[in-house]
This record gives sequence, C-alpha cells and structure tokens, in this order.
Amino acid sequence: MNIQRSIELFSKAKTLLPGGVDSPVRAFNAVGGQPLFIERGEGAHIYDVDGNQYIDYVLSWGPLILGHAHPLVVESIQKAASLGTSYGAPSPLELDLAELVMELMPNIEMLRFVNSGTEATMTALRLARAYTKRDKIIKFEGCYHGHADMLLVQAGSGVATLGLPDSPGVPASTTKDTLVARFNDLDSVEALFMQFPGEISAIIVEPVAGNMGVVPPAEGFLEGLRKITTENGALLIFDEVMTGFRAHLNGAQARYNIVPDLTTLGKVIGGGLPVGAYGGKREIMQMVAPVGPMYQAGTLSGNPLAMMAGIATLGELKKDGAWQILENAAASLGAGVKSAADAAGIPIQQTRVGTMFSTFFSETVPQDWSTVGKSDTERFGKFFTAMLKNGVYLAPSQFEAGFVSTMHTPKVIEETVAAIEESFKSL
Ligand SMILES: *Cc1c(COP(=O)(O)O)cnc(C)c1O
Repeated sequence: MNIQRSIELFSKAKTLLPGGVDSPVRAFNAVGGQPLFIERGEGAHIYDVDGNQYIDYVLSWGPLILGHAHPLVVESIQKAASLGTSYGAPSPLELDLAELVMELMPNIEMLRFVNSGTEATMTALRLARAYTKRDKIIKFEGCYHGHADMLLVQAGSGVATLGLPDSPGVPASTTKDTLVARFNDLDSVEALFMQFPGEISAIIVEPVAGNMGVVPPAEGFLEGLRKITTENGALLIFDEVMTGFRAHLNGAQARYNIVPDLTTLGKVIGGGLPVGAYGGKREIMQMVAPVGPMYQAGTLSGNPLAMMAGIATLGELKKDGAWQILENAAASLGAGVKSAADAAGIPIQQTRVGTMFSTFFSETVPQDWSTVGKSDTERFGKFFTAMLKNGVYLAPSQFEAGFVSTMHTPKVIEETVAAIEESFKSL
C-alpha cells in the first residue's frame, strides 16, 4: 500500500498543527501514529491522497449516516449556500429542523441549536444547574461529553488513548463539583446522592456508552437513573450526541423507553456539518435567554447550510425502510465478525446497539471502563493495520465505536467480512 503522500503531508502538518491534526484521535497515536490524509468520500468509501480506497466505518465519527456526499445532502447544502451562508438572524430552516427533531424525539418540547456536541452538553449542564440551583453533577467513568473543563474527568477514548486521565489547564476549582460514578453501577450513583444530599443538580450519561467502545446499558440501569434523579430533585440528561438517530431511529430514549429531562444532540443532526442542540421539557427550556435568565448565544448557531444538511439527513432517515437498511447492515457485519473470530480462535466481545458497534479483543464482557480496559490493545493495533491494508478504515482505537451508513450495502458488508477473515489470519 503506497501512502507516500500522506507521509509527506503529515510531516508538514506537524509543523503547522499540534500533532499534525485538529482533533487528537485523528493522529492514529494508538495504532502506529501515521494517519491517512483523505481527499474525498463517496457513499461507503473514502479515498486517501495517494488514491487508495477504503470502506469507511468511521463516517466522520458518526454523523454521516447516509454515507459520504449523499446527493440530496450535497444538493441541499449547495442550494442553501446560493442563498447566503449565514444571516445572524432567524431563518425558517431552524423551525423545519426543530420540528423534524421533535417528531423523532417527542420528549423534546423545545430546543436550541448550537454548533457542536461540546457546546450542547456544556450548556445543558449550565441549564440544569440554573434550574435546580445546585452545583454538583454526576458523570460516568469512560463517558465522553465533549471537552468542556468540568467534563474532562475520566472521559473515555480520546483522553485515555493519550494517557491523560485529566488535562492540565483544567483548574481543580472547575472539576470540584464533578462527581464520577461507574457506568452500569447504580450503587455507585446512590452512594454519591447519600454523600451529597440536596447538592446534585444532574446526572449526565451516554445512554449507550460509545466513547469507551460501545457498552450497552445493563438491564435496569437507565430506569434506576431515572428513579434516583426524580426522587432527589435532580435532572437526568441523556447525552445522545452519538446515540441520537444511531441507537434507534428515535434515539436511545425510545429504545429503552426512558424520558430524560434534557437531551443533547450533535453528529447526525448536522448531516456532516457542525451542529449541536440541547432540548427537553418546556418548563426547563424556558430558563434559556432571552425568555429566561440562563445565558447562551452563538454567532453561527442555526447556520442555514448546517440546518439544510440536517433536514435532508433526518428526512431521508425517517423514510420507510431506511432504518432497516442500517440495522441489517450492522447486524450482518456483527455476525460476520463473530464467526470469523470463532473460526480463527480469537477471543472477542462484539457489542452493538442499532447502528453502532465495537469489537473488543477481550474475554471479559464489557460493562464499564475497567472491564473494557482489559482488552488487548496491541492485538487491536495489529488488526487495525491489517484491516487498512485490506481496504477497510476503522476507528484508530480499541475504545471507539464503529458506524454504518445506508450506503453500506450487503455487498460492502460482504467485502468487509472477507477483509476481516483475512486480517484475523495475520493476528
Ligand atoms: C462526540 C461527542 C460529544 C462531543 O461532540 P463534538 O461535536 O465533538 O463537540 C459529546 N458527547 C458525546 C456522547 C459524543 O459522542
């Protein structure tokens, strides 16, 4: 495989951008440290600057649920651009996307668009604190909610892959109100409520953990969180930035039938453009400025290009049969991986919820951060490299989710399974 151009570009990039990248996991640090520079994407495939083709399971870390450069999305963006790229004033497109989101997630009675998942979670927590007049929050070990200071504690893949449990530059005073519990362990949550009665404003959780690799919630875990928060006057925030329209067409909240107080969204709702959103119960959302006192603003929020990409994406996704294509693709891929691993005698744990999945090289069932930590990351690194050589682009870390798009046809899945069988032979 010739990747000469990528090698040259990466050396230059390292002189211009820290680590040569604009987001740390892109640097392939956990798998050998030579990222590929991508020139274009089409459907289920990406092409690097040396002309190599790969089947893509990263899909920009989740957003591209219709695949790369979907004709309808491209057309919508072009149309929006020709009408002006930003107004700094309300546009009807914001209402169209808001209505689409609410149709798919009826627990959201009102929402505010922002520009990233980080902004969405950061603001949802500000809102929870404003609404409950309490300062403490609970997050889970191995869950990632963006890079806001108060949330960079035990924050999963990107941080862990670099070996930074926390980040320098985050003042202790900003994380002193961040309490950390264990995913899938209600006792660890109850203990915090006992220790800090009346002080906890909210629990924020990825209802299906995706940022330590995919770890589904244990039976009763999310119900338990709903019960504990209600009993203690705290809010339950579902961070569905990844699971939104991926764990289920109507989000993890529909799959597990739980009504959170607030929901954060990102990734898929922007269809590959920068969008985030937070929303939920009307009474809580009425705290947000200008109707209420909690301040939050954004120069490019509700950007017309991003709204159009989101409208096109969710519009396609809710069409009859679209979701089934996704679920079938993910399920047959999962089955293929499992039988290839069994045939090769390699112990793996394959997890999947809807269209997000992980393959852990481990004999331990993944339940939380400490159990996923038992995975053989060296073996994952070899697998990752072999898969690249066989034309499949996976997320460059054991602790990330994989994604499929509606362009991952049975033929594409079949090719992937063949590549997996081949790659397992070299482990
Ligand atoms: C990706 C992600 C975020 C952060 O979103 P950005 O758009 O990268 O800021 C927050 N929460 C979860 C669950 C995510 O997967």
